[in-house]
Amino acid sequence: MGKRNTSKEVLNPKTTKFEFGGVLGSTLISLTLPVFTVVINHLITPNVSISHDPLFYLNPCKSHHLWIPYLSWFIVLAVLDILMPGHWVKGTVLRNGQRLDYKINGISNCLLLVFVLSLRWQMTNGQMPELQYLYNNYMELNIITCIFSFYLATWVYLRSFINENKRILALGGNSGNVLYDWFIGRELNPRSIGGLLDIKLFCELRPGMLLWFLINLSCLHHVYLEIGTWNDSLCLITLLQSWYIFDGVLNEEGLLSMMDIVTDGFGFMLAFGDLALVPFTYALQARWLSTNPIVLGPWKIVAIVSLMALGYTVFHLSNQQKSLFKQGKLPNMKFIPTERGTKLLCDGWWSVSQHINYLGDWMISLSWCLTTWFNTPLTYYYSFYFAILLLHRQMRDEEKCHKKYGKDWEEYQRRVPYKIIPYIY
Ligand code: NDP
Repeated sequence: MGKRNTSKEVLNPKTTKFEFGGVLGSTLISLTLPVFTVVINHLITPNVSISHDPLFYLNPCKSHHLWIPYLSWFIVLAVLDILMPGHWVKGTVLRNGQRLDYKINGISNCLLLVFVLSLRWQMTNGQMPELQYLYNNYMELNIITCIFSFYLATWVYLRSFINENKRILALGGNSGNVLYDWFIGRELNPRSIGGLLDIKLFCELRPGMLLWFLINLSCLHHVYLEIGTWNDSLCLITLLQSWYIFDGVLNEEGLLSMMDIVTDGFGFMLAFGDLALVPFTYALQARWLSTNPIVLGPWKIVAIVSLMALGYTVFHLSNQQKSLFKQGKLPNMKFIPTERGTKLLCDGWWSVSQHINYLGDWMISLSWCLTTWFNTPLTYYYSFYFAILLLHRQMRDEEKCHKKYGKDWEEYQRRVPYKIIPYIY
């Protein structure tokens, strides 16, 4: 018995170090962030009213006109994730020495979505009632996704106790404190439907990201129906963000080495982030522009597109370079060999700063905010929030790498002293 407990602890050691301000911090984040998403959306489009009785949304029977479409969206995407053609790849090596199989089928799923949207456009003569529904019920659906994230996080938390010794728990989510583990995510890679659906990867890439795309489209469509013509600022934000969304959705294999998949458990933090925060706050610019259509003109468009192109180049090329290097495809680049037998790249983009990819990503975020030009500070929330997210992420990653690589990481820090912004930070 004693022996069994020891091996269980070696595979799933107890979490002793708390992040996000511990139990208090994670509880506060869980309570305030959902309220914040609703409040900021209300400020962005103050004329769009929501029900005065929030409890209404807690009763699925009463709000079936919201729950049925949202659950259908989620379930259909999950079924397509399992059924649509793709190829299989292996994830990173887990603590038990095994590697999970992931089905990569973003291309076929996205092609199907584009096909269905084009078909619906034809069939409805451009009326697209589903986009109108999304636009008109946006605030309520925001609340629905917050509640759904809560249910989903609770469900994955509870099932992490079933056959516990066969599951790999997240190193950061096994503290024994219910609230904290529920927030951080207790199980590392919860899977459902006989292991066919990887809940974390699915939530990261499908229901939230594609809903964000549809919300932008619904704003564009709304303005088109209202005033019968397209608007350059709204077209621009839709195009720029669609590029980013499909780049992310189609880069599934790249995600498999990201912190979210490799390190973080799946709890309320990721469920809420993926399903509610991403679609309902990343689309703020489009929502604002749908009620305040502004004309940017060619020079502002050129400036915004240039900033996005520069940010995307840094973001994409640096991420690609690290990924190719890790696959052994860039043998001539300088690196630091580590005691673990791996290599730390300190050449190319990865000699400029330790997270030059974050800087590129942040520049992209700023270009999106600029589509509303300097007409409102509210849409700049996104760049502000994203800067905090990336700074916090850099600190978490630094701690992880320091623990993992020890003096090899210190040597890397000596060779590449800047963390994100060269010569500044
Ligand atoms: P990184 O891509 O920087 O990956 C960090 C990991 O890569 C480290 O933990 C380490 O892992 C490895 N690594 C770091 N430096 C080196 C090096 N020099 N040589 C070799 N390996 C190295 O960070 P993230 O995974 O956080 O982010 C990936 C992308 O996703 C970023 O571009 C980020 O901007 C974006 N992102 C976007 C979000 C959004 O909401 N839009 C949210 C979060 C991220 P190990 O050695 O263990 O493999």
